[in-house]
Amino acid sequence: MVERSPPARQLAGGPSAYRRILIVEDEATLRRVISRNLVGRGHLVQEAETVGAAIKAINDERPDLILLDINLPDRTGWDLLRDLRSREIIIPTIIVSAVRVSQGRIAEFSPLAYLPKPFPLEALLRIVEGGCRATAAEGD
Ligand code: CA
Repeated sequence: MVERSPPARQLAGGPSAYRRILIVEDEATLRRVISRNLVGRGHLVQEAETVGAAIKAINDERPDLILLDINLPDRTGWDLLRDLRSREIIIPTIIVSAVRVSQGRIAEFSPLAYLPKPFPLEALLRIVEGGCRATAAEGD
């Protein structure tokens, strides 16, 4: 699965808004595939398997974007978002989950995007590279 296409930022017509990306995902294979692809596009990627590890990573160095699984070994992705909110830390988040996410949750946390698993990797990469502009346009 080695890709030799031009960097996605060129395809999207401008630089990505994100550079440091935190992947919170306990499925090692999926996490590595996503990580490898984002690193290949020039992002700085941190990985966390648990909410606890994610909080530590965020406290050490604030990411520009979080890719967040919901079902995690120690707590849920929602718990992470509540923790950040309680500390007034706002980081754009893309929810990736095999568990169906209710509209109520979406409304409560307003993620940048929600991708039900399984999803095409290309869809995730497109959101990462172009999501900020797309979201801003929708919000106007
Ligand atoms: Ca999981």
